[in-house]
Amino acid sequence: MIAKTEAIVLKSFDYRETSRIATFFTREYGKVSGVLKGIRKDPKKFGSSVASFSINDIVYYRYRNSDLHLISQCDLREFYFPIQQDLKRGMAASYVAELVTKIMPAEEANARIYRVMKHFFSALKDSSDINRLVHIFQIKTLLFSGFRPHLDACLKCKKTISGKALFSMKEGGLVCAHCHTTDTNIYSISQGTIAAILYIEKNRWENCLRLKLTEINKGELKHILNNFLVYHLGRRIRSAKYLEGIEKGGKRFSR
Ligand SMILES: [Zn+2]
Repeated sequence: MIAKTEAIVLKSFDYRETSRIATFFTREYGKVSGVLKGIRKDPKKFGSSVASFSINDIVYYRYRNSDLHLISQCDLREFYFPIQQDLKRGMAASYVAELVTKIMPAEEANARIYRVMKHFFSALKDSSDINRLVHIFQIKTLLFSGFRPHLDACLKCKKTISGKALFSMKEGGLVCAHCHTTDTNIYSISQGTIAAILYIEKNRWENCLRLKLTEINKGELKHILNNFLVYHLGRRIRSAKYLEGIEKGGKRFSR
């Protein structure tokens, strides 16, 4: 079966003497891997060099019994030169690509995450606040992939929390000071940070870019989102180390 779709390059590597294998996040079919035969021997065979994070129009043969398909056409639509040229932007882009690679099962379409990823790369090329973009992406991706943290009330007693709240990695959201037991994987979170996450979940990308975050919000978001993603994905996201200090930067709650 032949499929045609728009696709973002998540990663690619050389394969045998003349080919490359690329993993794309496609608009219509989700995460798809395929071989670009002969691309290194004859670069003009494809209208793209399959650079990381570039957007391409691809055509591929879908093999029914394999995770690896045959890419027959790949034409570049958009290449983000400033992301490739800047170390910090490149690392943020790698983190986002790795997050999508790990969170999305193969060949499961998710048009909302696809759209958010395009917004992210487009904003990343000239943004001065890279961490904020990463946090907006993390919050939207958690929401759209069904891993949303629960922030509406205490997960145990269901009461609304006013004042100081605690975020439990294990419970996947807020618990109040009364219900907090011996869980060690728990962090303080301010009402302002909770409000920021809820705002980002409910609002369009462009409006999220205008949201003001304090240094306290940024510190809490960095620590809680990174650890929450690591906890729920069950393995470390290697490129998260670019968000330095995730182990020691947060305010760990203690009695
Ligand atoms: Zn409670």
